[in-house]
Amino acid sequence: MRIEQPYAENGRPVPRRTPTSAPWLDAAREGRLRIQRCPRDGFFYYPRNRCPVCLGADWAWEDVSGRGTLYSWTVDRVGHDPAQRSQVPLVVAIVELEEGPRLTSRIVGCAPEDVSIGMPLEVCFEDLGRETLVHFKPRGR
Ligand SMILES: [Zn+2]
Repeated sequence: MRIEQPYAENGRPVPRRTPTSAPWLDAAREGRLRIQRCPRDGFFYYPRNRCPVCLGADWAWEDVSGRGTLYSWTVDRVGHDPAQRSQVPLVVAIVELEEGPRLTSRIVGCAPEDVSIGMPLEVCFEDLGRETLVHFKPRGR
């Protein structure tokens, strides 16, 4: 089965909406970062139907601080996806949230040369119409 990549009207790719990811995307549209929390094992990310530790289904969505630190990153200077070429250089990052989980995201609001491991970050959002993207920026900027 081929899964179609959805695009915003400006041609940029957006996350594929599923029943599982819809609460994440709805929260982003409202300017909130919300992830799932198991009553026994704590927060987990990415969105899924069962806790990755105990396989329980009694988790709940919870708003989190939106604060984290940079765990790892790389820079796309080429635009391997033609739809992203207007965005290069593009800092692709793994952000460790204060609540624990790590998210793959994008660093915006600073030059790639100013990005460093451990830098304090805060969530920000980019509305592309069809969906809202979750990014991170240097904290306090
Ligand atoms: Zn669990």
